[in-house]
Amino acid sequence: MLVGVPKEIKNQESRVGLTPASVRELILRGHQVLVQKNAGLGIGLSDAMYEAAGATIAETAEEVFRRAGLIVKVKEPQPQECALLRPGQILYTYLHLAPDPGQTAALLKSGAVCIAYETITGHGGGLPLLAPMSEVAGRMAIQAGAAHLEKSKGGMGLLLGGVPGVAPGHVAILGGGVVGTHALQMAVGIGARVTVLDKNVDRLRQLDLVFGNRIVTQYSNAQSIEEAVLDADLVVGGVLVPGATAPKLVTAAMIARMKPGAVVVDVAIDQGGCFETSRATTHAEPTYLVGDVIHYCVANMPGAVARTSTFALNNATIGHALALADKGWRQAMLDNVHLKHGLNVCQGHVTYEAVARNLGYPY
Ligand code: NAD
Repeated sequence: MLVGVPKEIKNQESRVGLTPASVRELILRGHQVLVQKNAGLGIGLSDAMYEAAGATIAETAEEVFRRAGLIVKVKEPQPQECALLRPGQILYTYLHLAPDPGQTAALLKSGAVCIAYETITGHGGGLPLLAPMSEVAGRMAIQAGAAHLEKSKGGMGLLLGGVPGVAPGHVAILGGGVVGTHALQMAVGIGARVTVLDKNVDRLRQLDLVFGNRIVTQYSNAQSIEEAVLDADLVVGGVLVPGATAPKLVTAAMIARMKPGAVVVDVAIDQGGCFETSRATTHAEPTYLVGDVIHYCVANMPGAVARTSTFALNNATIGHALALADKGWRQAMLDNVHLKHGLNVCQGHVTYEAVARNLGYPY
């Protein structure tokens, strides 16, 4: 099959659908890969690297969309990309259709077979094509929080790890899922004092087994949240209630009583945020102040580390990309129900229940 990789055109997006290593895997299986000129340049993946892996370079996105049977991307297609999709062509990317009636209508009109990374399931449960981005965001939350605790960024001037003779800072992490676990790994790694709060006691048991007395686990309720937040120098919000907006665990009144110059990083902002005072920000202007507390609420954190994110995403996406190229979408989905769960729009029909229900399409 001819696999196409257009350059991402969404604002501030430098990730790319396939790395040269992924291209090589496809070539080794007898496929051809067409990569748009400069598709990976923003993250140090040159056209020469793609050519060395066996790809052909296309001058334009139009050429990629016109010739490829399978399009591999990162972000949801923009209107001009939807217009280039063809009936029967496979689109494999993040879609996030439920809140996006415009894109859904455009994909229906295209007649393409549209597979969303975010709804593909895994053998052990969970959403394995979302997990790498949560890993990135969780780890980044500590990096971003630590940077904003510095005086020049408006913070209280605190080094999270402390130094010999000076106590470390306190990091409170709301939610011990993928984001929370990776945040706590980083926080423990730099020597901070760490508290993690979750409603799932089994999750707390697992974290306790792995991290022992290097962390404190707390069952999450209004009392424990208030105590942790008021004592913390950095609070990371990483809670998720599947299919719902994030619960507002930290109230504006708690924020008002936090230490001056403390930082909150609301990773859950893409689901509305778990701090009452959160509103989405961008990498161009990542923070704002509420009283004396710095709020970092970037909805697309992995975009800041696009190189790492691209490699992490490819590790999770290449398996299904190979299956789609080898077998075509019908057989690949017959063979793997988890891939089938990714099918959101198929040749003019909405094929994912939550999207159909949300947007009023028949299912
Ligand atoms: P996850 O399902 O792995 O973990 C969520 C955890 O929250 C679970 O352990 C759950 O038990 C816990 N939880 C639910 N209600 C709670 C409560 N009241 N108190 C404490 N804990 C509670 O999810 P995840 O992959 O870690 O993702 C977390 C959030 O981060 C999601 O909203 C996700 O979309 C978001 N995210 C944002 C970015 C970004 O760039 N901002 C990037 C990746 C993920």
